[in-house]
Order: sequence, then structure tokens, then C-alpha cells
Amino acid sequence: MRAEPDHQVRLLDLQEVDAELDRLNHRMRTLPEHEQVQRLDARLTELRDRLAVVETELRDLEREQRKAERDVEQVRVRAERDTRRLESGQVSSPKELESLQSEIASLARRQSELEDIVLEVMERQENAEARRAELEREVAEAEAERESADNRRSESVLRIRDELDSAAQRRARIAGEIPADLLGLYEKLREQNAGVGAAALRYGRCEGCKLELSTAELRELRTAEPDEVTRCENCRRILVRVPDSGL
Ligand SMILES: [Zn+2]
Repeated sequence: MRAEPDHQVRLLDLQEVDAELDRLNHRMRTLPEHEQVQRLDARLTELRDRLAVVETELRDLEREQRKAERDVEQVRVRAERDTRRLESGQVSSPKELESLQSEIASLARRQSELEDIVLEVMERQENAEARRAELEREVAEAEAERESADNRRSESVLRIRDELDSAAQRRARIAGEIPADLLGLYEKLREQNAGVGAAALRYGRCEGCKLELSTAELRELRTAEPDEVTRCENCRRILVRVPDSGL
């Protein structure tokens, strides 16, 4: 293939812009904020699940508390009625009196037991409420962190998009100056060679594969016509001769 030396040199500018585009695209894909947002989303899901469990527990405890209080009330009302009967003097049979007294005593024991249950449920409620408050605090914290990571991500994306736009414009301008056949070869080679299709020959070394050329290769390049598109023997990339090629 033949191409004007100026066009060959222009390929190196194109290569530089393409490398910049690759770097920018890679940076866009691997922004640390992507991972941070994902991690915080997972944390928020976990915290909200735990919060839902505590809230269910609190509703159950509230039901339990109401039932325990009702039980206490029932026993208290019955004990009061028995006490009134006892004090009214209407019960005169010693046997009946004894049974009434024993029921009052047993109701008092029962009431005390039920009151202990009320206290115990209350303690569990307080405990669950404290856990809920802690979880709510953690959720709020994770939400704030997520929002700030998301904002940072948006800023980075916008910045990189700007750089990509301006690099893409530069690329279009340079590519427009290069003949189609040379551009086609460069693009094919770029695809096959990890994004590098053209490299300069500098001080006897191919800048694509970083290898020194042999004396025979250098001799061949020295005698090649300036408009001949030369290739690196080792990596097969387009090898562009420049003023400091060492030929
Ligand atoms: Zn090479």
C-alpha cells in the first residue's frame, strides 16, 4: 500500500486520539461510584428488610400488650367484686366466706403475675423501639451516602462525556484527512492489536511492540520509498517513519 508520508504521520495523531477515547471509555465503565452505589443499594435493601422485621415485631408486641392489659383488668374487676361481696356482710356461711377469701387471694396472685407480663412486654417493646430507631438512623445515613455517590457519579459521567465529545470531534477531523484505504488498514489492525494500529519507529524501535528492529529490517526501511506503507515485522502494525527514527 502507498500513502503520502504526511498522511502516514497523521495516523500517529489519530492513534493518539483513539488511545485517549479508549482510556475515557474505560474510565467511564470503571468509575468507582458505580460500585459504591451498588454496594449502598444492597446495604439499603438489607437495612429495610431488617426494619420491616422489627416493625412486625412491634405490632405483635402491641397486640400482646393490649391483651395482657385486658387480662389484668378482668382479674382486677373480679377481685373488686369479690371484695365488695366480702365487705357487704351478705355472705354469712363460713364455708362460703373461706372460699371467697381464697379466691381473692388467688386473684391477687394472678394479677401480680399478669402485671409482670405487662412489664416484660413493655421492656421488649422498648428494646425493639431502640432497634428501630437505630435502623432508621442507619437507613438515613446510607440514603445520604448513596445520594452523594450518585451525584459524584453523575458529575464524573458528565465530565467524561464532555472529554469524549471533544476527542470524537478531533478524531473525525483527523480521520477526514486520511485516505480511505490507509484508514481502513489502520482500523483493521487496531482491532486486531489491542487498540494500536499504527506506531512510530523511534531510534530503531517499534513503539507498538517496543522491540528493536534488526539491522536487516532497518536497512530495508532505509531503502523503502517514502510513500510505501511499511509494517513492523514483529507486530505487523503500520510502522511510521519519523525524523528521529534512527534510519
Ligand atoms: Zn512492532
